[in-house]
Amino acid sequence: MTKTMIGIAASEGIAIAKAFRLETPELTIEKTVVTDIDAEVGRFEEALTQSKAELEVIKEHARKELGEDKAAIFAAHLLVLSDPELSNPIKDKIKSERVNAEFALHEVATMFITMFESMDNEYMKERAADIRDVTKRILAHLLGVTIANPSMIFEEVIIISEDLTPSDTAQLNRQYVKGFTTDIGGRTSHSAIMARSMEIPAVVGTKTVTGHIENGTLVIVDGIDGKVIVNPTPEVVKTYEEKKAMYLAQKAEWTKLVNEHTVSADAHHVELAANIGTPEDVKGVLKNGGEGVGLYRTEFLYMGRDQLPTEEEQFDAYKSVLEQMEGKPVVVRTLDIGGDKELPYLDLPKEMNPFLGYRAIRLCLESQDIFRTQLRSLLRASIYGNLKIMFPMIATLDEFRQAKAILIEEKEKLECEGITVSENIEVGMMVEIPSSAVIADLFAKEVDFFSIGTNDLIQYTLASDRMNERVSYLYQPYNPAILRLIHMVIKAAHKEGKWVGMCGEMAGDEIAIPILLALGLDEFSMSATSILKARSQISQLSKEDIEQYVESILSMTTTEEVVSLIKNRF
Ligand code: PEP
Ligand code: MG
Repeated sequence: MTKTMIGIAASEGIAIAKAFRLETPELTIEKTVVTDIDAEVGRFEEALTQSKAELEVIKEHARKELGEDKAAIFAAHLLVLSDPELSNPIKDKIKSERVNAEFALHEVATMFITMFESMDNEYMKERAADIRDVTKRILAHLLGVTIANPSMIFEEVIIISEDLTPSDTAQLNRQYVKGFTTDIGGRTSHSAIMARSMEIPAVVGTKTVTGHIENGTLVIVDGIDGKVIVNPTPEVVKTYEEKKAMYLAQKAEWTKLVNEHTVSADAHHVELAANIGTPEDVKGVLKNGGEGVGLYRTEFLYMGRDQLPTEEEQFDAYKSVLEQMEGKPVVVRTLDIGGDKELPYLDLPKEMNPFLGYRAIRLCLESQDIFRTQLRSLLRASIYGNLKIMFPMIATLDEFRQAKAILIEEKEKLECEGITVSENIEVGMMVEIPSSAVIADLFAKEVDFFSIGTNDLIQYTLASDRMNERVSYLYQPYNPAILRLIHMVIKAAHKEGKWVGMCGEMAGDEIAIPILLALGLDEFSMSATSILKARSQISQLSKEDIEQYVESILSMTTTEEVVSLIKNRF
């Protein structure tokens, strides 16, 4: 039977494909005493054989679809699996201690992982990661559970999942993953943001989608209206194929604006930039006519791996982005880890309120080795383009000053080493904590620019968790509290001759765009896929006309009033 579920439209587009349930099972290990030792050793050997067979298949797929270097990861895993140095101590432990295979495997593997991780050698540290991965695979076989690997999907599917972590999303193979839908999440959760930049249609926050869709069921994800249709009839499929064609035709129309500047009907010029997470995203920026990168979320470089990226790895990524952008501005945000973006290998203690906790610049100012490495690679890369650096989650002037002082120290150190660094790097900050918006006048004297991070600014101002669909009614971009804060920031910056961008999702919102234009926002940074639509919209707006309504918009008490004014007038 056909069923329609409503969720939050997280990434535009229509996808029609079979469902693929992505589940992360709990791998819990209990210690038990075994009586039949030979049978237990046999069970372990069987799990080993199954893991090897599975890895051979994955390796072959990876080689064909993703290339030799990705396949090499699985070749390394196969080597670990075949190594008697790992399997013999496990069997010995089962025999001598009469314990179950799961427990013996866990104990021995943990011993090796700890040993390799403590070595001061990158190669050995990577071996620890291999062992961890391989152990998980054997354990899954022992426990009879399947671990789905999102990067290893080789047929057209729609992913169905309770939630997708940003690193799961980063691993999705865009060629085959046509769309996704989740039980939880909001429009500004990072998997939603990534889906937009990957142009994968997505509906999140459906609450119960995993309870209604079996593997292989035909599903339609309508990322335009936030609907998921399960088991559609052929007529419904046809309707959605038409809707998809119309959407694609509209997109093609916008494409004509790809090489245009962004100018309003009354000749006011603004810059439309894109938010990116990886160097690969730059292709999408250029394809969609981005005039710059307004936010490079560098934390994705740190995620989906087992250790911190080296200075060289980071340098390569930053250089690649700057070179591809060929002199257009690139605003790189320093590491913003924490909140929903975790780095398991940093082993940070769990917090009651991660969004208010030890994260972003707070972590960087304390773990300065991590911060300094990133700044060095950024400074070294600065000569390859038009780099601007900004710090996330700045709450106080002191934090900005400390971060900037460290940046200057690193620049001087590099220059002493004879390494050239650009002299024209602007240094700015995100305004995403209400305190910094309120004292924007004080910050404006010290920064080169602001970028307003409304995703967080809204959640902190209205105390409404951006990830929690139950309080999403309070997540109100057009609330006068938000609009007034934005207005204050822009006025304060302009008074000091500084420019203001916005890199929160609000910058690409069609109701917000006229208001932001009238408030004087200089740069709008959004998902690359929203740029052409926004350029088309701005070309039809008169800044002067909207300015006349600004005062009344800033006093409107409900979202509905704002939406209706904008829709009816502009
Ligand atoms: C924001 O908070 O608006 C922002 C752009 O940063 P992030 O979404 O990465 O928290
Ligand atoms: Mg933020």
